[in-house]
Amino acid sequence: MIIGITGTDGGGKGTAVEYLVEKKGFIHCSARALWIDEIHRQGIEVNRANMRIVANELRAAHGDDFLIMEYKRRTGFTPEKNYVVESLRATAEVASLKKEGGILWAVDANPHIRYERIQSRASESDQISFEEFLKHEGLEMNDPDPHGMQKGKVIALADVVLQNNSTPGDLYLQIEKALAGSAIGIVNSQNYLAASLDDWQTAFYALYGHIDDKRSLDSIWRHSMVNASKFSSDIRKNNFGLAFTHLAHIFCWTVSFAERCRRSDDEHLSTIQTLADMVWEKYPGICPYCGTNPCSCSSPGLVQKDGNALVIPKGDPTKRPATLDDWGRMFDYIYSNAHAVIPIEALAFHLVEETGEVTSQLIRITEMLNGATSEEKKRELFREVADVFSWVCSVVSKINKTYFYPAARHFEKETNVVYGSIPTATLSKILWDEYGSLTDLICSTCKTNPCSCDQKLRL
Ligand SMILES: [Zn+2]
Ligand SMILES: [Zn+2]
Repeated sequence: MIIGITGTDGGGKGTAVEYLVEKKGFIHCSARALWIDEIHRQGIEVNRANMRIVANELRAAHGDDFLIMEYKRRTGFTPEKNYVVESLRATAEVASLKKEGGILWAVDANPHIRYERIQSRASESDQISFEEFLKHEGLEMNDPDPHGMQKGKVIALADVVLQNNSTPGDLYLQIEKALAGSAIGIVNSQNYLAASLDDWQTAFYALYGHIDDKRSLDSIWRHSMVNASKFSSDIRKNNFGLAFTHLAHIFCWTVSFAERCRRSDDEHLSTIQTLADMVWEKYPGICPYCGTNPCSCSSPGLVQKDGNALVIPKGDPTKRPATLDDWGRMFDYIYSNAHAVIPIEALAFHLVEETGEVTSQLIRITEMLNGATSEEKKRELFREVADVFSWVCSVVSKINKTYFYPAARHFEKETNVVYGSIPTATLSKILWDEYGSLTDLICSTCKTNPCSCDQKLRL
């Protein structure tokens, strides 16, 4: 997700950005940093007037959307990561931001409150009157220089306006609501096939986070295990339709577990990684046990299976899968040969086994004090969580091969199937089948977003 920030001086843009960067792990793309780089290059004094001058020069030389395009060049704006661009002041920047799939937030406040905020942090010599403050702002709202600032027009284009007239806590609450609101749109009926693993994690948090936050990590993981045991029963009974449902639930509880770890302040479980980060660390485009792609573990002599001592190389970040189904394709590429000769029942066993291994590791972390340090135990836990995801992907691939025609029929109601091609199940289709509505994600039980099942739960 890319959030562009705009707003008035003293409105609280910095507070909003700080919250997104420090609490939400957004990558900070600061316009100020770009202008200061240029000021240093020219060897002139760093002050507000020079910043306005070099900003206008850079826009005139490289295009009015320089801020967005320069950060696109520097960061790549990869879909798995979240970026906050501070701050947008030209309409061309907004157009490019939206072209990159970003959304624009404006942070504003009452002018008297803003004036007070600015005066309280200004030095003695920078003190100005309220009238001067308004006059200066008028210029920035609509700069006569065509490459200059057009803050007024930019603020009018904002998708979300945060009114920061009260405490920082109040602003944070508005930010959480805005994130949840945009997260609902992150995975929708139009884009679910293109959604990334991180998008699904955020979207499920928007749907269930208010309930999961009240659950313990143990309790969240119990749900994964229950669904894995139901899944094994579906496979035993040859009921692939129900198997899809339970796979969707295993996935949902697994991303919820990863998100809950990300939000935990327990040092034994907290992490900055998303599920996608955990999976990429364990499976960086290769089989971690034999180090090859496709996997050659089935070839005698090449296997070096030893969970804890496993040294896994860093993956090439340009090869990291972008969409959820790209992860499925990656696992298919690595393991479909190895799994071709294994019956689906054995793969289902393995998925159940992996959910049990996460539980074992949770027990090691929460009940045992001896042995490995908490960092090692945590790493092992997240590797096990990554394994669950990898087996979900492998099982989806195997279902396509085992139940080829019924699986195709299950998805042929889709409208986006290319004529003449046979639809296959992918994880995103299975998830949409279970949690999709005509527009947004909804809870498969109560059919609302956010889920309202908690009214019947004892938490
Ligand atoms: Zn292997
Ligand atoms: Zn519900």
